[in-house]
Amino acid sequence: MNVADSQRVAAELEQLGYTYSRQPAEADVIVLNTCVVRQSAEDKATGRLSSLRPLKVNNEKLVINLMGCLVSPKNQDELRRRFPYVDVFSPPSDPGPLIAYLTQRTEQQGQVEAVRMRNAVMDGELVLPHSDVARVSAFLPVVLGCSHGCTYCVIPSRRGAERSRPMDEILAEARNLTYQGVREITLLGQIVDRYGHDLEPQLDLSDLLERLDDMEGLLRIRYLTSHPSFLSNRILETTARRAKVCPHIEVPVQAGDDKVLKAMRRGYTVADYRNLVQKIRGYLPEGSIGTDIIVGFPGETDDQFLSTVNLLEDLRLDVAHLARYSPRPGTPAFRNMSDDVPANEKLRRFRILEDLQERVVGEINARLLGTHQEVLFEDRVKNRWRGRTRTNKLVFVQNDENLTGQLRSVKITWTGPWSMQATLT
Ligand code: SAM
Repeated sequence: MNVADSQRVAAELEQLGYTYSRQPAEADVIVLNTCVVRQSAEDKATGRLSSLRPLKVNNEKLVINLMGCLVSPKNQDELRRRFPYVDVFSPPSDPGPLIAYLTQRTEQQGQVEAVRMRNAVMDGELVLPHSDVARVSAFLPVVLGCSHGCTYCVIPSRRGAERSRPMDEILAEARNLTYQGVREITLLGQIVDRYGHDLEPQLDLSDLLERLDDMEGLLRIRYLTSHPSFLSNRILETTARRAKVCPHIEVPVQAGDDKVLKAMRRGYTVADYRNLVQKIRGYLPEGSIGTDIIVGFPGETDDQFLSTVNLLEDLRLDVAHLARYSPRPGTPAFRNMSDDVPANEKLRRFRILEDLQERVVGEINARLLGTHQEVLFEDRVKNRWRGRTRTNKLVFVQNDENLTGQLRSVKITWTGPWSMQATLT
C-alpha cells in the first residue's frame, strides 16, 4: 500500500514538472513515506527522518514531506516539535498537502507560468523504481482503510474506516496504467475481498476482476490481502475461470491456536482456515498460497506456538510473512494485554518458523524443476532478467533480448526457496 501511495505522489509531482532523483542530496523535494505497523518500522522511519536534517541545513530551499502512517491527526503538533525541519505533513494515501504547498510556493515566487523541471526523491520504507522508466507491474488500491479491528493492528487508527473506491474510478486508473505500459495490476486492500460491499449498489471483488480481465493491454491481475472470513466461493471461482487473474492468494492466518485467534479478534478458527486452504486448492489446483503469522502475541504459550508450527508444517504454504508481535499504542492489545513473551523467546519462535518455511518452500519449488512456466518479465537486475510466474514465484533468466513487459514460456533449470532460474523455451 505504501508503494502505491508513493507512486501516486510521484505521478502528481510529475504533473507539476518534477522528475525523479536517486540522490537525496540533489533533490528539491524529499518525500519520506512511513509505515508504523511494527515498532521497528517506526524506528526506521524516524531514523531516516533524522538523517535528512543535514540536507535541510545545507539547502534551505529543500522541501521535506513526512507522509504515511507516522502522521495521524492526533500527533501532528508533537511531530512538528520533534522534527521542525519538516515542511509538510501528509496522512497516508494523500498527496494533497504536498501538492498544495508546492503550488502555493511556486505561485508566491511568481513562477506559475513555467514550472521548472525539478527533482523529487521518494524515500522511506520502500524505495520507488525510477518513475520515468515504464513500469510493468503496478499496485492499485481499491479498498482504503480498514474497519476489522484486529486487536494488534494500528492500521484502522491510521488509515481510517474501510471504504471501497468506485469501480469506474478504478477502471479508469487501470486503463491509464495500461496506456503507460503496465501489464500487471495488483489490486490492494487491507481486506481486499470485501471490495464493493459498502458501495451503492453493492459490488463484489469478482465484478471488478471480470471487468479488468476484459481490459485490452492488461496481461495479469492479482489481489491482496484476503481475509479468511471474506474469501468467497464467488471470488475463487472467478479467479479460477478468468485467464488473466493469477492463482496466488495471500490470506493471513496470524496464529495456529483458537484462543490466540480469539484474543487477536480475527473472527475464524484454525479449522476454518484449514478448510479454506483445502477449498482454495480445490478451485486452484496449480495455485499458490501465502500467509502472515505473528509470533509472541500476548499470552501465547509454548504449546499454542507449537500449534502454529504444526499448522504451517501441515499446510505447506508457498509463502509465510513472519513477524514478532510489536505492541502498538492505540490498539486494544496495547491497552488491555501485557506484552509478556520476552524478546529472545519471540526471536526463537520466529526462527523456528523461518527454518521450517525455508525447508517447505525449498521442497515445493524443487518440484517445479524441469517444468514449463509462464513468466512476466519486469526488469533486469545485473545481467539477469527478473520476472514472476503466475503463482508469484521469482524467476531469473539470462538472455540478450529485451524481455521487459513480455509474457514468455520458460523451463525451470534451478530452484531454491526464494527464487528459481530458467531458460526461455
Ligand atoms: N490487512 C492485512 C491483514 O488483515 O492481515 C495485512 C496488513 S498488515 C500491514 C501486514 C501484517 O503485519 C499483518 O498480517 C500482521 O501479520 C503484521 N502485523 C500487524 N500488526 C502487527 C503488530 N502489532 N505486530 C507484529 N506484526 C503485526
